[in-house]
Amino acid sequence: MIYLDNNATTKVDEKALEAMLPYFCEEYGNPSSIYDLAHTANSAVRRARNVIKDFLGANDSKEIIFTSCGSESANTAIKGTLELNRAKKHIITTKVEHPCVLNLYKELEKHGYRADYIGVDSNGDLDVNELISKVDKDTAIVSVMYANNETGAIFPVDEIAQKVKEINPETKVFVDAVQAAGKIPINVKDTKIDFMGISAHKFHGPKGIGALYVKSGTMVSPLIVGGHQERGKRAGTENVPYIVGMARAAELAMENMDDELSRVKKLRDMLEDGILTKIKNARLNSTSKNRVPNTTNIGFLYIEGELILLHLNDEGICASSGSACTSGSLEPSHVLRAMGVPFTSLHGSIRFSLSRYNTEEDIIQVIQTLPHIIDKLAKISPFQKELGEILRPC
Ligand code: PLP
Repeated sequence: MIYLDNNATTKVDEKALEAMLPYFCEEYGNPSSIYDLAHTANSAVRRARNVIKDFLGANDSKEIIFTSCGSESANTAIKGTLELNRAKKHIITTKVEHPCVLNLYKELEKHGYRADYIGVDSNGDLDVNELISKVDKDTAIVSVMYANNETGAIFPVDEIAQKVKEINPETKVFVDAVQAAGKIPINVKDTKIDFMGISAHKFHGPKGIGALYVKSGTMVSPLIVGGHQERGKRAGTENVPYIVGMARAAELAMENMDDELSRVKKLRDMLEDGILTKIKNARLNSTSKNRVPNTTNIGFLYIEGELILLHLNDEGICASSGSACTSGSLEPSHVLRAMGVPFTSLHGSIRFSLSRYNTEEDIIQVIQTLPHIIDKLAKISPFQKELGEILRPC
């Protein structure tokens, strides 16, 4: 199998799994209890919090709270801010956010909030000036992703936070860093960002565990109310094995960052070149230089994306036609629509997302297999005439 859907989820690193195992049946104490067994669990959580602090380049481990996933981190930051600032009714985000932000904003609109959704250009790059122009005295929160899950486009979140605060120092800034963490270095310390969310299963950690950075001095109302855990910001007994697994995965991601930025990027570029060289109706949906190194999104004119995925699956190749949340539905991607991708390739766009487990052999195999799939589908396409000959002579 060749797995090229790492923006949907990743394989758990075996070293992360190994680190988790003792905390199920041996060191299973509740970190809040007072006996030695609990102390072991407590110090494992403390150590993990420190690792995540370094992973995000935060100042203090007290700024890290553990959550169950990226969606919970986003919901906590956004709802937890609005709850404490009920008079402010204006919220800003982008048109290309993950549904965990976009659908929350739609809900908030039903409850009287005024929302602005900022657009992107044809490369998927954000219109920062438009975003900043929308900030006013009534703006409670700006939510902007660090890297887009479908195109990999990186948004200038430090600059955005800085400019937002210059206009309204009270406006909070939440950054969804789920697709950035582990792929590019993050350093939240010297920024004006108030909140940043991550999710372990996107960087070879387990599913069901995430974290939220909350800048020192920033208030947030808890989404889950109960015990005193996470300094009152998220109740519930700490998920010790998963917290340990996420921290180990973060350490491994930091160790492998150079590989991600050079070898993985080289493989991604090789895949793009190979496909564009061999297939005439292929076009890159984003050519932005500012992309995470593992992601590419390629449109195939007049071909149905779901069919491409099924044929790839028959060849043991996993990819995606959008985010994991939208694939499975026939709705074209909201991200590609916001970018103005033409209708002719909107339905035939495929996201390939790599990881450190991919090899050159994987990429060569895809470059050899895909052209035949596209050629076969072109021959049965109702637009066969428009498509003409699909394969370029090599
Ligand atoms: N934000 C982005 C950009 C994502 O890609 C995802 C998942 O695909 C999420 C948030 C949600 O993360 P989780 O699945 O951990 O809730």
